[in-house]
Amino acid sequence: MSCELKAKDRAGVINPIFTCQPAGAQYVSIGIKDCIGIVHGGQGCVMFVRLLISQHLKESFEIASSSVHEDGAVFGALDRVEQAVDVLLMRYPHVKVIPIITTCSTEVIGDDVDGVVRKLNEELLQEKFPGREVYLIPIHTPSFVGSMVSGYDVAVRDFVKYFAKKTEPNGKLNVVTGWVNPGDVTALKHLLSEMQIDATVLFEIEDFDSPVMPSGNTVSHGNTTIEDLRGTANALGTIALNRYEGRKAADWLAEEFDIPTIIGPTPIGIRNTDTFLQNLKKLTGKPIPESLVRERGIAIDALTDLVHMFLADKRVAIYGNPDLVIGLAEFCLDLEMKPVLVLLGDDNAHYDTDPRITALQEKVDFDMEIVTNADLWDLEKRITQDGLKLDLILGHSKGRFTAIDNQIPMVRVGFPTYDRAGSYRHPVVGYAGAIWLAEQIANALFTDMEYKKNKEWLLNVW
Ligand code: SF4
Repeated sequence: MSCELKAKDRAGVINPIFTCQPAGAQYVSIGIKDCIGIVHGGQGCVMFVRLLISQHLKESFEIASSSVHEDGAVFGALDRVEQAVDVLLMRYPHVKVIPIITTCSTEVIGDDVDGVVRKLNEELLQEKFPGREVYLIPIHTPSFVGSMVSGYDVAVRDFVKYFAKKTEPNGKLNVVTGWVNPGDVTALKHLLSEMQIDATVLFEIEDFDSPVMPSGNTVSHGNTTIEDLRGTANALGTIALNRYEGRKAADWLAEEFDIPTIIGPTPIGIRNTDTFLQNLKKLTGKPIPESLVRERGIAIDALTDLVHMFLADKRVAIYGNPDLVIGLAEFCLDLEMKPVLVLLGDDNAHYDTDPRITALQEKVDFDMEIVTNADLWDLEKRITQDGLKLDLILGHSKGRFTAIDNQIPMVRVGFPTYDRAGSYRHPVVGYAGAIWLAEQIANALFTDMEYKKNKEWLLNVW
């Protein structure tokens, strides 16, 4: 019985689990009100990412490209940034925040984006848009390092660093969500509201589950304001739910403004949600109300109905964003399942110092493999060549063919999920998330039992 932490055993990536750094910065920027990002690079760096985000959220939103071509790649493309800012400001009178998100090509050619931002502040904005409130924020996300996960982390820090301003204490709590769904934000805000905590949620993407209103507007926007970002410096504390998506901002706020900070845990499952609530209590002094104790009880009841009879000992493979995957692995253990394969796809050399991984290694009493910098071939190879037996796969839509081809039930969780209806609406965090996840898992197993005639009679007598 062992839990081995190992790196992918070959060079190159086959069927990546993640996309590149600028994608993370783009996901952050859509959470900010009156913000449209300009991705400085080839048009595909926006087009494919925007498509993925749109497919995932089933919504339309705006993001721009400086659309660098051959001449820019050879001679430099800063003129494209100047033109893009000009066009964006002319076309969108409401826009105030413009992150300039770099890509691999514009980092390699050495475009001085910080310099062009200084120039635009001194020239274009003064001359053509005098008096207009505009903030240009360089965000460096070369895609030859890290992944969309580190790009998310860098972008949250850069937005916070740019705006945070110490004035008077505001009595609010900073809650840095990490890469989550609109449904997760709703669930987190529910927990905060039950505890009567006034919080700045980074980032407010709830409206990406947007209604179609009589006005007919179908473009979605984030709702974290400039004032929210400024106020992060005056908070009574910060909780970053994820270690790899938002921690940089939390650490910076702690160092710069001496704000008490707690990192994690990602509140997936009962245990981690309990710790999250205890952490809220620690930072704010607010008690955990009876209403949440009741919600917890309902969740435990729902899980108890499933665990022993259907979930215990089921062998699971999990892949995706590391905080999500580790949270899911911890939840699976609580559900008496066996996460035998855990694939962490980020380009990250520090997983061996993650205390949650150490805890997993100490806890498991079966053979478990944690593969770092992994790809989807690591999943497929183990199933098709190494004879790995699985009862379930947890991951985003990019691994669907491995599940379909090998007839393994799969629950879609993580980004991007585009082949299941409404997944962005349902939380995986909090007690509500624990119920939703466990029931999704159980229903996937039930369908499999029926189609494979595998003890499907059990469902008659349950
Ligand atoms: S890898 Fe580079 S070229 Fe490709 S989408 Fe990402 S930033 Fe753009």
